Amino acid sequence: MSHAIKRILDGNAVASRIKEQLAPRIAKLAERGVTPCLATILVGDDPSSATYVRMKGNACKRLGIKSIRVDLPASTTTEELIDAIGQLNEDKAVHGILLQHPVPHHIDERAAFEAIAIEKDVDGVTTLGFAQNAFGYADYPSCTPAAIMAILAHYELPVRGRHAVVIGRSPILGKPVSAMLLNADATVTTCHSRTENLADLVRLADIVIAAVGKPNFVQGGWIKPGAVVLDAGYNPGNVGDVDYEACLAKASAITPVPAGVGPVTIATLLKHTVDAAEKFGA
Ligand code: NAP
Repeated sequence: MSHAIKRILDGNAVASRIKEQLAPRIAKLAERGVTPCLATILVGDDPSSATYVRMKGNACKRLGIKSIRVDLPASTTTEELIDAIGQLNEDKAVHGILLQHPVPHHIDERAAFEAIAIEKDVDGVTTLGFAQNAFGYADYPSCTPAAIMAILAHYELPVRGRHAVVIGRSPILGKPVSAMLLNADATVTTCHSRTENLADLVRLADIVIAAVGKPNFVQGGWIKPGAVVLDAGYNPGNVGDVDYEACLAKASAITPVPAGVGPVTIATLLKHTVDAAEKFGA
Protein backbone atom coordinates (compact mmCIF):
# COMPACT_ATOMS: atom_id res chain seq x y z
CA MET A 1 0.00 0.00 0.00
CA SER A 2 1.48 3.34 -0.99
CA HIS A 3 2.16 5.99 1.63
CA ALA A 4 -0.29 8.42 -0.04
CA ILE A 5 -3.18 5.93 0.09
CA LYS A 6 -2.35 5.03 3.64
CA ARG A 7 -2.70 8.56 4.96
CA ILE A 8 -6.50 8.71 5.04
CA LEU A 9 -7.83 5.94 7.23
CA ASP A 10 -11.10 5.05 5.54
CA GLY A 11 -13.63 4.06 8.18
CA ASN A 12 -16.16 3.01 5.57
CA ALA A 13 -13.70 0.47 4.15
CA VAL A 14 -12.98 -0.97 7.61
CA ALA A 15 -16.70 -1.08 8.42
CA SER A 16 -17.46 -2.83 5.11
CA ARG A 17 -14.87 -5.49 5.87
CA ILE A 18 -16.41 -6.13 9.31
CA LYS A 19 -19.94 -6.29 7.87
CA GLU A 20 -18.90 -8.61 5.01
CA GLN A 21 -17.63 -11.06 7.60
CA LEU A 22 -20.94 -10.86 9.50
CA ALA A 23 -23.20 -11.73 6.55
CA PRO A 24 -22.44 -15.49 6.46
CA ARG A 25 -22.67 -15.69 10.25
CA ILE A 26 -26.12 -14.07 10.18
CA ALA A 27 -27.19 -16.53 7.45
CA LYS A 28 -26.01 -19.44 9.60
CA LEU A 29 -27.95 -18.13 12.59
CA ALA A 30 -31.05 -17.90 10.36
CA GLU A 31 -30.71 -21.63 9.63
CA ARG A 32 -30.98 -22.14 13.41
CA GLY A 33 -34.05 -19.89 13.46
CA VAL A 34 -32.17 -17.10 15.26
CA THR A 35 -32.29 -13.47 14.16
CA PRO A 36 -29.72 -11.33 15.99
CA CYS A 37 -31.55 -8.53 17.78
CA LEU A 38 -30.27 -5.24 19.17
CA ALA A 39 -32.46 -3.15 21.46
CA THR A 40 -31.62 0.55 21.62
CA ILE A 41 -33.05 2.76 24.33
CA LEU A 42 -33.34 6.49 23.79
CA VAL A 43 -34.44 8.67 26.68
CA GLY A 44 -35.60 12.18 25.78
CA ASP A 45 -35.40 13.97 22.46
CA ASP A 46 -31.79 15.07 22.02
CA PRO A 47 -31.52 15.38 18.21
CA SER A 48 -27.92 14.05 17.97
CA SER A 49 -28.80 11.01 20.07
CA ALA A 50 -31.91 10.42 17.96
CA THR A 51 -29.72 10.53 14.84
CA TYR A 52 -27.22 8.04 16.29
CA VAL A 53 -30.02 5.65 17.28
CA ARG A 54 -31.61 5.92 13.83
CA MET A 55 -28.25 5.25 12.14
CA LYS A 56 -27.74 2.17 14.29
CA GLY A 57 -31.26 0.92 13.50
CA ASN A 58 -30.77 1.44 9.77
CA ALA A 59 -27.41 -0.35 9.84
CA CYS A 60 -29.07 -3.33 11.57
CA LYS A 61 -31.83 -3.46 8.99
CA ARG A 62 -29.41 -3.43 6.05
CA LEU A 63 -27.64 -6.49 7.44
CA GLY A 64 -30.68 -8.51 8.53
CA ILE A 65 -30.27 -7.78 12.23
CA LYS A 66 -33.49 -7.03 14.04
CA SER A 67 -33.53 -3.75 15.93
CA ILE A 68 -35.99 -2.85 18.64
CA ARG A 69 -36.23 0.80 19.53
CA VAL A 70 -37.41 1.81 22.98
CA ASP A 71 -38.16 5.53 23.12
CA LEU A 72 -38.80 6.92 26.58
CA PRO A 73 -39.83 10.48 27.46
CA ALA A 74 -37.33 12.92 28.99
CA SER A 75 -39.36 12.74 32.23
CA THR A 76 -38.51 9.02 32.70
CA THR A 77 -37.19 8.25 36.20
CA THR A 78 -34.14 6.10 36.95
CA GLU A 79 -36.46 3.39 38.27
CA GLU A 80 -38.59 3.41 35.13
CA LEU A 81 -35.50 3.19 32.93
CA ILE A 82 -34.08 0.32 34.98
CA ASP A 83 -37.44 -1.41 34.71
CA ALA A 84 -37.39 -1.05 30.90
CA ILE A 85 -33.85 -2.47 30.80
CA GLY A 86 -34.98 -5.34 33.04
CA GLN A 87 -37.69 -6.28 30.56
CA LEU A 88 -35.13 -6.38 27.73
CA ASN A 89 -32.82 -8.48 29.91
CA GLU A 90 -35.66 -11.00 30.30
CA ASP A 91 -36.53 -11.05 26.61
CA LYS A 92 -34.76 -14.06 25.10
CA ALA A 93 -35.19 -12.66 21.57
CA VAL A 94 -33.01 -9.64 22.47
CA HIS A 95 -29.24 -10.28 22.27
CA GLY A 96 -27.79 -6.82 22.77
CA ILE A 97 -28.92 -3.74 24.69
CA LEU A 98 -27.63 -0.25 23.99
CA LEU A 99 -28.64 2.65 26.20
CA GLN A 100 -27.87 5.80 24.22
CA HIS A 101 -25.59 8.14 26.19
CA PRO A 102 -26.17 10.75 27.54
CA VAL A 103 -29.48 10.36 29.37
CA PRO A 104 -31.22 13.38 30.95
CA HIS A 105 -29.35 14.74 33.98
CA HIS A 106 -31.91 13.69 36.60
CA ILE A 107 -31.33 10.02 35.72
CA ASP A 108 -28.58 8.03 37.44
CA GLU A 109 -26.88 6.90 34.23
CA ARG A 110 -24.41 4.66 36.01
CA ALA A 111 -27.22 2.78 37.78
CA ALA A 112 -29.00 2.37 34.45
CA PHE A 113 -25.87 1.05 32.72
CA GLU A 114 -25.30 -1.40 35.59
CA ALA A 115 -28.82 -2.77 35.05
CA ILE A 116 -27.83 -4.19 31.65
CA ALA A 117 -27.20 -7.94 31.84
CA ILE A 118 -23.50 -8.63 31.17
CA GLU A 119 -24.28 -11.09 28.35
CA LYS A 120 -26.25 -8.33 26.57
CA ASP A 121 -23.78 -5.50 27.34
CA VAL A 122 -22.66 -5.11 23.72
CA ASP A 123 -21.19 -1.63 24.35
CA GLY A 124 -19.13 -2.57 27.40
CA VAL A 125 -20.80 -0.03 29.69
CA THR A 126 -21.24 -2.12 32.85
CA THR A 127 -18.59 -2.18 35.56
CA LEU A 128 -17.92 -5.84 34.79
CA GLY A 129 -17.68 -5.22 31.04
CA PHE A 130 -15.32 -2.29 31.66
CA ALA A 131 -13.16 -4.37 34.02
CA GLN A 132 -13.00 -7.31 31.62
CA ASN A 133 -11.80 -4.89 28.95
CA ALA A 134 -9.17 -3.47 31.30
CA PHE A 135 -7.94 -7.02 31.95
CA GLY A 136 -7.91 -7.64 28.20
CA TYR A 137 -10.53 -10.37 27.84
CA ALA A 138 -13.85 -8.59 27.30
CA ASP A 139 -16.36 -10.25 24.99
CA TYR A 140 -17.71 -6.82 24.14
CA PRO A 141 -15.34 -3.92 24.72
CA SER A 142 -16.94 -0.49 24.23
CA CYS A 143 -17.65 -0.07 20.53
CA THR A 144 -15.79 3.19 19.80
CA PRO A 145 -12.56 2.06 21.51
CA ALA A 146 -12.85 -1.29 19.73
CA ALA A 147 -13.39 0.58 16.45
CA ILE A 148 -10.22 2.62 17.01
CA MET A 149 -8.24 -0.56 17.62
CA ALA A 150 -9.84 -2.16 14.53
CA ILE A 151 -8.74 0.76 12.34
CA LEU A 152 -5.17 0.53 13.65
CA ALA A 153 -5.19 -3.23 13.00
CA HIS A 154 -6.77 -2.93 9.53
CA TYR A 155 -4.09 -0.52 8.35
CA GLU A 156 -1.35 -2.48 10.17
CA LEU A 157 -0.29 0.61 12.09
CA PRO A 158 2.10 -0.48 14.81
CA VAL A 159 1.03 0.03 18.41
CA ARG A 160 3.57 -1.97 20.41
CA GLY A 161 6.14 0.27 22.06
CA ARG A 162 4.58 3.44 20.60
CA HIS A 163 3.56 6.39 22.73
CA ALA A 164 -0.20 6.89 22.51
CA VAL A 165 -1.73 10.07 23.89
CA VAL A 166 -5.47 9.82 24.52
CA ILE A 167 -7.32 13.11 25.01
CA GLY A 168 -10.41 12.30 27.08
CA ARG A 169 -11.10 9.92 29.96
CA SER A 170 -14.80 9.10 29.69
CA PRO A 171 -15.85 5.61 30.81
CA ILE A 172 -17.07 4.69 27.30
CA LEU A 173 -14.22 6.12 25.29
CA GLY A 174 -11.06 7.65 26.75
CA LYS A 175 -10.54 5.18 29.60
CA PRO A 176 -11.35 1.95 27.74
CA VAL A 177 -9.30 2.91 24.68
CA SER A 178 -6.39 3.77 26.97
CA ALA A 179 -6.68 0.27 28.48
CA MET A 180 -6.85 -1.36 25.06
CA LEU A 181 -3.79 0.50 23.83
CA LEU A 182 -1.93 -0.44 27.01
CA ASN A 183 -2.94 -4.08 26.54
CA ALA A 184 -1.58 -3.81 22.99
CA ASP A 185 1.79 -2.76 24.52
CA ALA A 186 1.62 0.95 23.80
CA THR A 187 2.93 3.43 26.34
CA VAL A 188 -0.17 5.43 27.16
CA THR A 189 -0.74 8.96 28.43
CA THR A 190 -4.39 9.77 29.18
CA CYS A 191 -5.25 13.48 29.24
CA HIS A 192 -8.34 15.33 30.44
CA SER A 193 -9.64 18.78 31.22
CA ARG A 194 -7.25 19.23 34.16
CA THR A 195 -4.14 18.15 32.24
CA GLU A 196 -1.40 20.77 32.23
CA ASN A 197 0.68 21.40 29.10
CA LEU A 198 -1.63 19.32 26.93
CA ALA A 199 -0.09 20.50 23.66
CA ASP A 200 3.41 19.52 24.85
CA LEU A 201 2.19 16.03 25.77
CA VAL A 202 0.45 15.56 22.42
CA ARG A 203 3.69 16.61 20.68
CA LEU A 204 5.32 13.50 22.18
CA ALA A 205 2.70 11.15 20.71
CA ASP A 206 3.23 8.58 17.97
CA ILE A 207 -0.53 7.91 18.13
CA VAL A 208 -3.06 10.61 19.06
CA ILE A 209 -6.61 9.66 20.02
CA ALA A 210 -9.00 12.62 20.19
CA ALA A 211 -12.04 11.89 22.39
CA VAL A 212 -12.86 15.31 23.76
CA GLY A 213 -16.23 16.43 22.40
CA LYS A 214 -14.95 19.84 21.26
CA PRO A 215 -14.95 20.72 17.54
CA ASN A 216 -11.53 21.16 15.88
CA PHE A 217 -9.85 21.01 19.30
CA VAL A 218 -6.58 19.27 18.39
CA GLN A 219 -4.31 21.70 16.54
CA GLY A 220 -1.89 20.91 13.72
CA GLY A 221 0.94 22.45 15.72
CA TRP A 222 0.46 19.78 18.41
CA ILE A 223 1.12 16.88 16.04
CA LYS A 224 4.57 15.32 15.82
CA PRO A 225 5.48 14.88 12.14
CA GLY A 226 4.51 11.35 11.09
CA ALA A 227 2.14 10.70 13.97
CA VAL A 228 -1.06 8.68 13.52
CA VAL A 229 -4.20 10.64 14.43
CA LEU A 230 -7.56 9.03 15.20
CA ASP A 231 -10.48 11.37 15.71
CA ALA A 232 -13.36 9.83 17.69
CA GLY A 233 -15.10 13.18 18.01
CA TYR A 234 -18.47 13.75 16.44
CA ASN A 235 -19.81 17.25 16.92
CA PRO A 236 -22.81 18.98 15.37
CA GLY A 237 -22.30 19.65 11.66
CA ASN A 238 -20.23 16.45 11.18
CA VAL A 239 -17.16 18.07 12.74
CA GLY A 240 -14.53 16.06 14.58
CA ASP A 241 -12.39 16.91 17.59
CA VAL A 242 -9.35 17.39 15.33
CA ASP A 243 -8.53 20.34 13.10
CA TYR A 244 -8.43 17.97 10.15
CA GLU A 245 -6.61 19.94 7.45
CA ALA A 246 -3.92 21.21 9.81
CA CYS A 247 -3.34 17.77 11.35
CA LEU A 248 -3.43 16.03 7.97
CA ALA A 249 -0.44 18.14 6.95
CA LYS A 250 1.61 16.71 9.84
CA ALA A 251 0.29 13.19 10.32
CA SER A 252 1.34 10.04 8.46
CA ALA A 253 -2.21 8.71 8.80
CA ILE A 254 -5.47 10.25 9.98
CA THR A 255 -9.18 9.44 10.22
CA PRO A 256 -11.59 11.92 8.61
CA VAL A 257 -14.93 12.97 10.09
CA PRO A 258 -17.34 11.75 8.88
CA ALA A 259 -16.32 8.35 7.44
CA GLY A 260 -13.66 7.67 10.05
CA VAL A 261 -14.27 6.16 13.49
CA GLY A 262 -18.09 6.54 13.31
CA PRO A 263 -18.96 3.84 10.75
CA VAL A 264 -16.53 1.41 12.37
CA THR A 265 -18.22 2.00 15.74
CA ILE A 266 -21.57 1.02 14.23
CA ALA A 267 -20.10 -2.04 12.49
CA THR A 268 -18.54 -3.08 15.80
CA LEU A 269 -21.90 -2.78 17.54
CA LEU A 270 -23.43 -5.06 14.88
CA LYS A 271 -20.57 -7.52 15.30
CA HIS A 272 -21.05 -7.64 19.06
CA THR A 273 -24.78 -8.24 18.57
CA VAL A 274 -24.06 -11.16 16.24
CA ASP A 275 -21.45 -12.49 18.69
CA ALA A 276 -24.09 -12.37 21.44
CA ALA A 277 -26.71 -14.07 19.26
CA GLU A 278 -24.27 -16.90 18.47
CA LYS A 279 -23.54 -17.36 22.17
CA PHE A 280 -26.99 -16.99 23.63
CA GLY A 281 -29.43 -17.20 20.70
CA ALA A 282 -32.22 -19.61 21.59
P1 NAP B 1 -17.34 13.12 27.43
O1 NAP B 1 -17.96 12.06 28.29
O2 NAP B 1 -17.91 14.49 27.44
O3 NAP B 1 -15.78 13.20 27.79
C1 NAP B 1 -14.96 14.18 27.22
C2 NAP B 1 -13.58 14.07 27.79
O4 NAP B 1 -12.80 15.13 27.26
C3 NAP B 1 -13.54 14.21 29.32
O5 NAP B 1 -12.70 13.23 29.86
C4 NAP B 1 -12.97 15.61 29.54
O6 NAP B 1 -12.16 15.75 30.71
C5 NAP B 1 -12.09 15.77 28.31
N1 NAP B 1 -11.91 17.20 28.03
C6 NAP B 1 -12.85 18.17 27.95
N2 NAP B 1 -12.29 19.36 27.72
C7 NAP B 1 -10.96 19.14 27.64
C8 NAP B 1 -9.84 19.99 27.45
N3 NAP B 1 -9.98 21.30 27.26
N4 NAP B 1 -8.61 19.43 27.44
C9 NAP B 1 -8.45 18.10 27.61
N5 NAP B 1 -9.49 17.25 27.83
C10 NAP B 1 -10.71 17.77 27.84
O7 NAP B 1 -17.35 12.66 25.90
P2 NAP B 1 -17.29 11.19 25.25
O8 NAP B 1 -18.59 10.51 25.39
O9 NAP B 1 -16.05 10.49 25.67
O10 NAP B 1 -17.15 11.60 23.71
C11 NAP B 1 -16.04 12.34 23.24
C12 NAP B 1 -16.25 12.64 21.76
O11 NAP B 1 -16.39 11.43 21.04
C13 NAP B 1 -17.51 13.42 21.45
O12 NAP B 1 -17.27 14.26 20.32
C14 NAP B 1 -18.52 12.37 21.06
O13 NAP B 1 -19.56 12.85 20.21
C15 NAP B 1 -17.63 11.41 20.35
N6 NAP B 1 -18.10 10.04 20.29
C16 NAP B 1 -18.03 9.49 19.08
C17 NAP B 1 -18.42 8.20 18.92
C18 NAP B 1 -18.28 7.64 17.55
O14 NAP B 1 -18.89 6.63 17.23
N7 NAP B 1 -17.44 8.23 16.71
C19 NAP B 1 -18.91 7.47 20.00
C20 NAP B 1 -18.93 8.04 21.26
C21 NAP B 1 -18.52 9.35 21.39
P3 NAP B 1 -12.75 15.59 32.21
O15 NAP B 1 -12.89 14.12 32.43
O16 NAP B 1 -11.71 16.21 33.05
O17 NAP B 1 -14.07 16.31 32.21
